Amino acid sequence: MTADTRNETAPVLVWFRRDLRLSDHAALTAACATGRPVIAVFIHDDAVAGLGAAPRFRLDLGLRALDAALREKGSRLILRRGGAQEVLRQLIVETGARSVYWTRLYDPASQARDSALKSALKQEGIEARSFAGHLLFEPWTVQTGTGGPYRVFSPMWRAVAGRAVDGLLPPPDRIAAPADWPGSEPLDDWQLQRGMRLGARVVAAHVQAGEAAALDRLDDFCASAMARYKAKRDLPGVDGTSRLSDYLSLGEISPHRCWAAALRAGEAGAAGAETFRKELVWREFAYHLMYHTPHILTENWRSEWQGFRWNTDGGTAPVTAWKQGRTGVPLVDAAMREMYVTGRMHNRARMIAASYLTKHLLTDWRIGRDWFEQHLTDWDPASNAMGWQWVAGCGPDASPYFRIFNPETQQQKFDPDGGYLRQWIAEGHRDPTPTALSYFDAVPESWALSPEMPYPQPVVGLREGRERALDAYHDWRG
Ligand SMILES: Cc1cc2nc3c(=O)[nH]c(=O)nc-3n(C[C@H](O)[C@H](O)[C@H](O)COP(=O)(O)OP(=O)(O)OC[C@H]3O[C@@H](n4cnc5c(N)ncnc54)[C@H](O)[C@@H]3O)c2cc1C
Repeated sequence: MTADTRNETAPVLVWFRRDLRLSDHAALTAACATGRPVIAVFIHDDAVAGLGAAPRFRLDLGLRALDAALREKGSRLILRRGGAQEVLRQLIVETGARSVYWTRLYDPASQARDSALKSALKQEGIEARSFAGHLLFEPWTVQTGTGGPYRVFSPMWRAVAGRAVDGLLPPPDRIAAPADWPGSEPLDDWQLQRGMRLGARVVAAHVQAGEAAALDRLDDFCASAMARYKAKRDLPGVDGTSRLSDYLSLGEISPHRCWAAALRAGEAGAAGAETFRKELVWREFAYHLMYHTPHILTENWRSEWQGFRWNTDGGTAPVTAWKQGRTGVPLVDAAMREMYVTGRMHNRARMIAASYLTKHLLTDWRIGRDWFEQHLTDWDPASNAMGWQWVAGCGPDASPYFRIFNPETQQQKFDPDGGYLRQWIAEGHRDPTPTALSYFDAVPESWALSPEMPYPQPVVGLREGRERALDAYHDWRG
């Protein structure tokens, strides 16, 4: 066989990461278009090892769904553990592959890994191609009039609202299989669900994974809640949002598909469609900021905040109470409990829980960031970091620190009938809801909590906490 004919039949490796879908997958489409066998690979590398318990649990479900979807197309998912370069090199040797394709990621660690990989493969004469797909707009294509990324949301929204986005790609009908499949590690051996311990059973009842589930969810949302999204998206006790964030985070659905659905709904007169597209652009905003200013992940985005005197002890009694959903402030506790039971938290509830931690408890936003990273099934590096910095006041386009959410007035405004609180707080109720009770099954046994315990007293008075936060702010401002 000559080198040319070998290249014509050599498999293409498609390295899946946060793009666990078959449609709207430019890398997979391009691989199939070569007419050569395609081998889908997922690598348990440092990035996977570093995931929090809930995202790892959710990834396990996503990988199972992706493998099942690939098998319907005559293919399968090859699982390997190790550094990406070594694993891919080994697969190239084993399969004779001459090409590796993947969808781009934008966090600094993935960027560094992927660009080193690309140059190494190219040097070895292997075709290495990266494709867009995780975002609507590549970060380097959206710039302010004077150059550089948008640091404020509204002008970015105006800049992209009318832009064309890539068309939707159909899934392949069949995926050509190699003559011999390389070996794959059993997913069970990776024990991705282990960190969740008993909580996994509780959260699993609230999670559906995979592209098919994502498409169903989008359809349901378009048929029902999209029209009232603008009016209801802020009410945590109402099923008023898309609940697509898990799927978007793992790429089980593309943002393009969500965008296209919203455009169609808008043309058909759905009042909430534009607001929904704005939220998709908040996701882009977070990603573009992470790409251009990666310190958003770890440092106060506004450098002047370096001098602010946060509490940096994540083990104080009030912070522990926050983590456990036992601050004695019902809306904050309901938010945290929703997260333990479902793996998710309503956006309004995230803002209130985050504001309480960073302001009433004067605690460094990074403690909250890390806690959410462990417990959210929709954890996303860019949106989580931006969300925390936005609430804390040190981030881009942030609300000023002195604007402190009052959980009581927030509750009157956004949960006036107390439906959200009933959903998540059991103590003190003669007939608690099943979801409120399941919080006690979801949390670690070591917390020794039971629904018979009295509901806790507030760890800090709302007025006192607010004044303390304002004093700290004024001391810092000088
Ligand atoms: C402190 C804090 C932490 C957060 N952490 C995460 C996180 O780890 N992962 C995550 O996906 N989102 C995060 N968010 C953003 C937001 O809360 C969730 O995206 C949203 O609640 C998901 O629910 P949904 O899919 O029903 O959203 P919808 O209201 O239906 O919105 C549609 C999609 O738009 C995107 N989106 C909506 N709001 C935002 C936002 N404020 N910022 C960025 N993207 C947004 C999401 O991809 C979402 O799925 C965080 C927000 C805060 C305040």
